[in-house]
Amino acid sequence: MLNKINNNNELTKQDIVSLLKITSKSELEELYKMANLVTKKLGNCNVKKVATLMFSNNCTANCLYCSLRKSNEKLKRYRLTSEQIIKALGHLDPSQFDCLLLEIGEDRHYKIQEIIDLINHSYKYLKDKTFAVSIGERPELEYKILKDTGINFCHLRHKTSDPILYRNLHPDMKYSNRIKSVWSLKRLGFNVGSGVMIGVPGQTLESLANDILMLKTLDIDFIDFVQYSPHPDTPLAKKFYRAGGYFAPAIGYFDIKEMICKMTAITRIVNEKADILVNTDFTNRIQDELHLSCGANVRILNLTNVQLRKNFEDPGEK
Ligand code: SF4
Repeated sequence: MLNKINNNNELTKQDIVSLLKITSKSELEELYKMANLVTKKLGNCNVKKVATLMFSNNCTANCLYCSLRKSNEKLKRYRLTSEQIIKALGHLDPSQFDCLLLEIGEDRHYKIQEIIDLINHSYKYLKDKTFAVSIGERPELEYKILKDTGINFCHLRHKTSDPILYRNLHPDMKYSNRIKSVWSLKRLGFNVGSGVMIGVPGQTLESLANDILMLKTLDIDFIDFVQYSPHPDTPLAKKFYRAGGYFAPAIGYFDIKEMICKMTAITRIVNEKADILVNTDFTNRIQDELHLSCGANVRILNLTNVQLRKNFEDPGEK
């Protein structure tokens, strides 16, 4: 299989499944080396830094894996006011990042005009920066209004390419709406960020292989792979612990960090030009460097938790 990559042959779903099954250290090193060469060949190896600011932790949805789900009454909610956001932006050190991602998610409290006003204010403080927004599933008209204000970058994670898995994880959301929204963003000419969650119960290697191919089909510009981490206040955590950890039928129990590295390396080979984020669950420098050496090229800096929290009275739990 590694020879097939060397010969520049296009990878099929079955090829990708075979690569995801690799556990031998030498083969993994070879795979990561190949991915790293692609990153370097395309001059994509200068690490970019994206800062994220989360406006709100309110959500209208009930995804089974997420602690922000609306049924989680234990979570202390916050929603930053326009004044708090503006104040926070004034405290930012622009030398720390290249792009600012403003995350609103599935909180309908912020109307599109309010979001645009906030972005326009933000330009005053961060003139030379790229702005990206994540506003969840919205009507195409709202995305268009956003585009017309000069925003070129929108993030909407599609989570999985597997419609059945999607339905099982998102009881009040529709897979078709999610994909339609991603297509709307592409059609409107945004640079689109999207991604996949890895390690959820019920996920198969076939499903992960399809995820890689779908990221290519959707022509996603900015990819993030999120590690599923069981949160005690979510229904999916019980299922995860009952299963005994990260498990996929074809390979049994697996190392989640290694799986994320494999997904990253294969994605880099299949989708050469995309930016790929370093996983935020890679908590130390060695893991970070490993991820960067197997195809990732963008670091995330979470400002909501670090500098900005100091500037608000009590933004609550994230
Ligand atoms: S994953 Fe997103 S949409 Fe789902 S509950 Fe969490 S914040 Fe809401």
